[in-house]
Amino acid sequence: NRRLAGQTCIVTGAASGIGRAIARLFARHGAHVVVADVTETVLEGGEPTVGLITREGGSAVFRRTDVSDAQAVEALVDEAARLTGRLDVIVNNACIRHARRLTELEEGDWDRVMAVNLKGVFICCRAAARRMLTQEIRNEARGRIVNLSSQHGMIAAPDDLAYGVAKAGVAYLTGQVAADYAGQGIICNAVAPGKIVTGQGGRLLDEAVLDRARRRTPWPRLGHPDDVARAALFLASGEASFVTGINLMVDGGWMAA
Ligand code: NAD
Repeated sequence: NRRLAGQTCIVTGAASGIGRAIARLFARHGAHVVVADVTETVLEGGEPTVGLITREGGSAVFRRTDVSDAQAVEALVDEAARLTGRLDVIVNNACIRHARRLTELEEGDWDRVMAVNLKGVFICCRAAARRMLTQEIRNEARGRIVNLSSQHGMIAAPDDLAYGVAKAGVAYLTGQVAADYAGQGIICNAVAPGKIVTGQGGRLLDEAVLDRARRRTPWPRLGHPDDVARAALFLASGEASFVTGINLMVDGGWMAA
């Protein structure tokens, strides 16, 4: 059954990797997907996300949007809400990486990572929540927010200080927004992926790193973007009733081991 039939869903950073998998799965479940990214081109090779979705019979549009630009994000939300008259879901997935530890990290790079990975999530949550508060309750909620955090907001991100700090912030923000807006029908949750092999992840990680991750992960394989997409679908759909403020680990048991 189509769990997002007729719903408008924004997915940021959906030109590649996990965001693309989320956009495709949501479209297969009947959502009108708004792909928001700074790049139309694809980091993984192959075709742009909207082309893939359209060919699969789904509904998607691309809107070039920098999540750290509040005005652009407000315009994105307005436009998305015009598609069906409401914004049902936003998935805040866009991110950048800058692998440096403390003593090698420049202030400008810290600022850039924070601007996209943390302030960008704040800006997108705020714009979406303002819109959702104007909507009627449907299926128990005015709207649903899904943020991408990471296991590296809970344990050290090897050599990537700014990224880990931003992701810890995303997990905190998720709980705070959930608590502050539960009474007004906004559901806000996070997904915390473990080691997920994406096009970019694959390029950034060498075989030795992947091997270490395989040995560290109890489940006998590394994660796939679809593993994360299925968790995001659960949180974006009405099936996650009475679930808000959680940081759902999708890590093959990494954190438990
Ligand atoms: P990715 O780098 O493949 O995709 C990120 C996307 O965000 C890209 O398409 C990029 O163009 C876009 N983007 C970058 N800056 C942007 C901006 N300012 N505005 C709009 N879009 C922007 O990343 P991924 O591996 O698919 O990760 C997706 C999410 O999952 C991220 O939030 C990441 O932190 C999280 N995550 C990934 C892993 C993993 O192993 N891949 C693990 C834990 C968490």
